Amino acid sequence: MTDTARRQIVAANWKMHGSLDMIQGYVGHLQPVEGVELVLFPPATHLAPLVSALDAVEARVAVGAQDVHDKEAGAYTGEVAATMVADLGGRWAIVGHSERRRYAAESDELVAAKVVAAFRAGLQPVLCVGETLEERQAGDAEAVVARQLSCVTNALSAEAIRRLVVAYEPVWAIGTGHSATLAQVETMHSAIRRVLNDAVDGEFAATVLYGGSVNEKNAIELFSSSLVDGALVGGAALAGERFMTIARAMHEAGRAAG
Ligand code: PEP
Repeated sequence: MTDTARRQIVAANWKMHGSLDMIQGYVGHLQPVEGVELVLFPPATHLAPLVSALDAVEARVAVGAQDVHDKEAGAYTGEVAATMVADLGGRWAIVGHSERRRYAAESDELVAAKVVAAFRAGLQPVLCVGETLEERQAGDAEAVVARQLSCVTNALSAEAIRRLVVAYEPVWAIGTGHSATLAQVETMHSAIRRVLNDAVDGEFAATVLYGGSVNEKNAIELFSSSLVDGALVGGAALAGERFMTIARAMHEAGRAAG
């Protein structure tokens, strides 16, 4: 198939935060940013009201779920299927966030099944990968991320692998205020692209985001790298104006897609 171009994406993971009031204030800050796709990941309960609020102001901002179930339907109390997210106007899904891997004991195999379910429902998955501090200190960061990625790529066609968006999110950098250094991010993003290229047996323009304590200040340096296609942002993206500042930093980095 024809190669897909690298995308520039700034996404907000609201985690278990948000309310109808917050949505009203948040959407008032949103504006299009040329060349940058904006995506919001609210809690599943707030997906539909957020889609409506964005439609009302004609914001060109996509919405996604923070997780999806791997099955299409069934007796899975409390779970949300990828098709339900799509039904509500969601277009994206985070899969394999480290908080899901940790608190819901999600295995690499389950994450792979969820990525398949997201694609099947027509959602764009953002696959999160990343090592713990112990794994990094043991010198295993690249091996851990390669294992997480390979489990998913083994479940996908070459075409789906090319459409995957990957977020490198070192567990030790999430919510800690300590972002990875640019050198660490570049090393890991290169390693991720090698695994993806090997999986399709050829080079392609993989879109790889960074996540882990991104804020308005460090975003400028991170986005200056041609290896960083954007960010998945937690805490700093809980306020619409801060999210927009980070999104504009991606645009101002002036990086041509390719
Ligand atoms: C995240 O939730 O994916 C994340 C990166 O959070 P934070 O930006 O708060 O570290």
